[in-house]
Amino acid sequence: MLLRIASLFLLAFWSLQCNAQAQSLPKNLILMIPDGFGPASLTMARDFQQATTGKMQLALDEFLVGNARTYASNSRVTDSAAGATAYSCGIKTYNGAIAVAPDGTPCATLFEAAKKRGLKTGVVVTTRITHATPAAFSSHVPRRANEDDIATQQIENSGMDLIFGGGGKYFIPKEAGGARADGRNLLLEAKRKGYALAGNLAEFHQLSKLPAIAVFAPDHMAYEVDRDPTKEPSLAEMTEKALQLLQKNNPKGFVLMVEGSRIDHAGHANDPAGHVHDILAYDAAVRKALEFARRDGQTLVVSVADHETGGMTLGRDGVYQWKPEALAKVKNSVDTLAALAKKPGADVVALLKEKTGITDLTEEEITTLKSEIAAAAPRFAFTLIHIVSKRSIIGWTTDGHSAVDVTVHAYGPGTYLFRGNHENAAVGQALAKAMRFDLKALTKTMFK
Ligand SMILES: [Mg+2]
Ligand SMILES: [Zn+2]
Repeated sequence: MLLRIASLFLLAFWSLQCNAQAQSLPKNLILMIPDGFGPASLTMARDFQQATTGKMQLALDEFLVGNARTYASNSRVTDSAAGATAYSCGIKTYNGAIAVAPDGTPCATLFEAAKKRGLKTGVVVTTRITHATPAAFSSHVPRRANEDDIATQQIENSGMDLIFGGGGKYFIPKEAGGARADGRNLLLEAKRKGYALAGNLAEFHQLSKLPAIAVFAPDHMAYEVDRDPTKEPSLAEMTEKALQLLQKNNPKGFVLMVEGSRIDHAGHANDPAGHVHDILAYDAAVRKALEFARRDGQTLVVSVADHETGGMTLGRDGVYQWKPEALAKVKNSVDTLAALAKKPGADVVALLKEKTGITDLTEEEITTLKSEIAAAAPRFAFTLIHIVSKRSIIGWTTDGHSAVDVTVHAYGPGTYLFRGNHENAAVGQALAKAMRFDLKALTKTMFK
């Protein structure tokens, strides 16, 4: 009798364990990459949100689990190509490499493993679709600048079910206003293959099935702070639409990569308003992904940047303060501000008052701005935006990337794999493990 009870107990325990195991790994993966988002970016966005809305928590705050080391195989400071390959293939590689190993041979990606098992795949970005981050999930090239090849592989080989973003120019021949040298129109070829195409907001809203491509600009989409909501969707709208389409009639699941692409561009430009508004737009997209995952219960959401950009500091020049209230008065990105300031006849003092709320320009600042405009100085945009940063007490140390660790956020089944401090390549391996993909074996069967 005692033996029988004991064995029943054991059986119950064993099945509980099995259930726990079965429940602990996801069916769907939403990988979110805020390009160029460092630890200071998180604080900046939270403080800005608190100052402008009173809300204390970002969606990102709700599922912070660790951080990641970002260095590349050939440099302590990574670029976006090597950074994305660490996540798509689970390997460290050299700067500029798009899903190829240091020796130049292709490495199998999460998307290729997903396709092999019948899952759907997609990318949602705000740069050109052929830019480094989405490219590393959907093509293999030795140099990120090979965007003609990247576009060809994305349409011909990747089998992606969903592509939303900017930058159609490498899909369209030069003769038709694009950038391709070989005369091919890959968007028309995609249409013939059965893709539904959307080229504007109305067509985007009408998309009702996969495969689908939505392209909103010849190059990058607008910075969030400049975005016209009647022309381009937000990252959150694109993410929500992508999740609706990917979930529909899809018993096997999906892998979706969503990138807050231009957080990085604003970092390169040392543009604090561009940076913070793109981060908050990204955070809104994260919220959509978390809502989906909570409802669905079988979806892992991971957010991890590829690197930090700009070496930004909140506080500078020995001042114990930074001022999100001042930053909140800035209405445009530095690209827009600099273009307006350089227009013939523009009054830079009046312009800064209107667009940035700055009314205390010093004589020295006014002289510098005016002389740089007159001389068409190549670094004028930096001069202009550093004046804006100074009013918010924000510092920048580089117009490139830096080597600091980035935050890792995970929610849903498989979260335990991401706790702590990990190599970026180990984060990529954990993504594969969560989805039961063997990328090493797949690399051998596909490429060796
Ligand atoms: Mg990117
Ligand atoms: Zn990057």
